[in-house]
Amino acid sequence: MDSIFIKIINREVPATIVYEDELVVAFLDASPVHPGHTLVVPKEPFVNMFDGDPETLAHMVKVAQRLAQALQVVVKADGINLHMNNGAAAGQEVFHAHMHVVPRYEGDKSYQKPRKQSYDDTGVDAQALGAQLSAQLAGTE
Ligand code: AMP
Repeated sequence: MDSIFIKIINREVPATIVYEDELVVAFLDASPVHPGHTLVVPKEPFVNMFDGDPETLAHMVKVAQRLAQALQVVVKADGINLHMNNGAAAGQEVFHAHMHVVPRYEGDKSYQKPRKQSYDDTGVDAQALGAQLSAQLAGTE
């Protein structure tokens, strides 16, 4: 996989790296929602959470927690959004997995909440869907 993030990991493209260990690098997003918005990126590339190694994904969350705690202190974040865009349909633009750690402030209105609906409006039976999901999960244990 050749991505801009590989070039950052290899120090071929400059970035403000704030943390690194054997599995991940974390650097400031070049177009932050707020200053301090950081990306946690696996050194061994995968596309997103559909194909990622679960241990590496879990490690990304651990690092994100430490970053969230640091951002509370350093940029006085009131809250943190933690998210991954997985797939183009979900807004992924760089196809090397990354977790966004985004500082938030009371009343900042930086994110639009997703449009939500009732199950009645969708015409989908929640009980049946839940059973289908449970069965799928049981099949992949
Ligand atoms: P996504 O939409 O989840 O794929 O997000 C990709 C993120 O990577 C965006 O928030 C970009 O601002 C960020 N990004 C792209 N290129 C760079 C770069 N060279 N340095 C830092 N952040 C970058």
